[in-house]
Amino acid sequence: MSSSPTIGVLAIQGDVREHSKRLAESGAVVRAVKLHSDLAGISGLVIPGGESTTMSILAERNHLLEPLRELSKEIPMYGSCAGLIMLADVVTDGRVDQPTIGGLHITAQRNAFGRQRDSFEIDLDIAALGSPAFHAIFIRAPLVTRVSPAVQVLATIREPVAFGDTHSHDERVVAVRQGNLLATSFHPELTSDLRFHQYFVEMVRSA
Ligand code: GLN
Repeated sequence: MSSSPTIGVLAIQGDVREHSKRLAESGAVVRAVKLHSDLAGISGLVIPGGESTTMSILAERNHLLEPLRELSKEIPMYGSCAGLIMLADVVTDGRVDQPTIGGLHITAQRNAFGRQRDSFEIDLDIAALGSPAFHAIFIRAPLVTRVSPAVQVLATIREPVAFGDTHSHDERVVAVRQGNLLATSFHPELTSDLRFHQYFVEMVRSA
């Protein structure tokens, strides 16, 4: 694999520009993917954050869903936020018939943090990235509520929960990898920390 792999960014809806910038800064040649023909020759694909319901409708309309399903078995893909939802096998709290690319054996619950915590930022310890902690930005983010044994959990967030009078914490899954598929509930493209994009570019290089 060349040291500057060509990586597509699904460019039908969402924060395409931010991902493109971070990928280029991480050493990739970036291609905007709008049509089936744009998929030829890419070595990896990023599915940006945005609105998964709209993204899936437009992907279906552009006849991209089936080709993307096939391609996800061949090249690395990385989905952030709405992109995580697009890669999930099962989506809860979605549009009734919301189609996804799938392939990632997880259940993604849309807008899982509720109104009070619509958007928030938090520092996450992510062993795969080393230190320091990664500053993660969540915007109407999904949670991974179920993972199959094939899925490696990369990051969790500790949520306070109350049991009667006692208080405890639940670990909630917010970043996963399964072979060539990578997904985060949050938006690394909105920070200048390139480690997640570099991690993905490395996955593409070694695929
Ligand atoms: N809530 C959005 C959805 O369901 C995801 C939000 C995001 O990508 N920032 O698609």
